[in-house]
Amino acid sequence: MSTKETISLKSRQLIDFCRTLTLDGDISDEEAWKLRKFLNDNPECCSEWPGAEIDYLLTKVFENGSASEHELKQIASKLISIEMKSFKIFNKEQIDELIESFSPYDCILPSIPTIVSIKSDSNPDETYYVNLSDSSCSCSDWYGERRHFQPNTLNRCCKHVAYALHKINKDSEYPEWLQCLINECRHSKKGLNPKFRWTIVLVKNNPVLFSSGNSDLINIYAHHDGNFSKFGYDIKEKRWSYGIRPHYSETIKIALGIQL
Ligand SMILES: [Zn+2]
Repeated sequence: MSTKETISLKSRQLIDFCRTLTLDGDISDEEAWKLRKFLNDNPECCSEWPGAEIDYLLTKVFENGSASEHELKQIASKLISIEMKSFKIFNKEQIDELIESFSPYDCILPSIPTIVSIKSDSNPDETYYVNLSDSSCSCSDWYGERRHFQPNTLNRCCKHVAYALHKINKDSEYPEWLQCLINECRHSKKGLNPKFRWTIVLVKNNPVLFSSGNSDLINIYAHHDGNFSKFGYDIKEKRWSYGIRPHYSETIKIALGIQL
C-alpha cells in the first residue's frame, strides 16, 4: 500500500494519552504539563506526527512559563483534531486489513463495516448510501432488483456498490477478478447483471470467474497476456467471441463442463 500512513507504537501511546486528557472536553494547566512531560520522556515522538505538532504548540505556549485560558483551549482543540485524524487513520487501517484478508477464492464481495456515500451520476443533488458490510445500497436498482439476494453475493452489486468498493480502496488492488468487475462497472456505469449466475473455479491455481444468464454466451474473467480480462464463449456455436481466448482456454472449458 504505497500511500498508507503508518503511526509508530510510541505515537499510538501518545494518542491514547491525549485521549485520556481530553475526556472531559477540556485541558487543565496540570494536564498540559503532563503532556509536556510525556514528550520530554519520549523525545522520539517529537520527530513525527502527532508529537511534532503538539511539541511545537506546547513550546510556544510555555514560553512565558504558564498557559493562559485561551492557550489551554488551543491545546484542547489541537488534541481533539488529532484524535479525529487518528480515528480516520485507524479506521482506514482496519479496512485495509479486512481487504487484505479477503479470500480471492470465494465468489462474494468483501464485507467491510463502513457506509460510503456516492453521488448520483445523473443528479448531483442525489446521494446514495452504500453499506459495504452486506453490499446494500439505497438506490432504486438495488431495492428493486437485488435486495432479495444473500448479503455480499455479486448479484447485489449495483454500480454504487462497485463505486464504493473503489472509493475506499484507491491505493491498492482487490483480487484480480474483483478489480476487473469493479473496473467494468465504473466504465459501463452499470451494476453487475442481477440475473446472472456467478461462479469461481481454480484453473492452474488461479481463480477464473464465470458468469452466465439465459443466453448461450458465457462470460469468463481470466488471464491473458499479463492482464486479467473478460472473454466470451458461445456454448452453442462452440467459439470464443472475436476469436480471442484466455490462457489455458482448454482447461477452462473442461472446468466449465463444456463439451466440444
Ligand atoms: Zn446503488
